[in-house]
Amino acid sequence: MAIRKITEYPENVLAEVGKPVTEFDEELAELCADMYDTMYDAEGVGLAAPQIGLNLRLFVMDCDGIKLIAANPEIVATEGEQSSQEGCLSVGKVPAVVTRPQKARLRAQNEKGEWFERDAEGYAARCFMHETDHCNGMLFLDHLPKMRRDMVVKRFKKEKRWV
Ligand SMILES: [Zn+2]
Repeated sequence: MAIRKITEYPENVLAEVGKPVTEFDEELAELCADMYDTMYDAEGVGLAAPQIGLNLRLFVMDCDGIKLIAANPEIVATEGEQSSQEGCLSVGKVPAVVTRPQKARLRAQNEKGEWFERDAEGYAARCFMHETDHCNGMLFLDHLPKMRRDMVVKRFKKEKRWV
């Protein structure tokens, strides 16, 4: 097990559509263990493979009582609406209010390749959607109006001392 380096905006891999996970072997289990180590070390509640530089449809999460590994994740149903603060380990956790559905149903494969569906609402549903977005090359920034997006990027760059 090891802590991996977290990929940060605007590295290309964060904007690429991930490749499907096809091998459900020991190597995948080790990768997931590293992803959990990296996520907990960074005090995050979810981490997707592109965030450690891998162009792969895979995430781990431990959020609001839901701990799971999701390979080839899809959001298959949503309901309602919620607006609250969201941040991302790849954008320095700079927060912004994002509007998303209140409930979401995740369909994915576990580390053994078995398909499952899981329902969540509120914070955990937000996590399902945020991490699935990563697997599709999207960031929470992509859900923001331009002005708010620019503000988050500006604050992030400032924190990184790019300006
Ligand atoms: Zn993120």
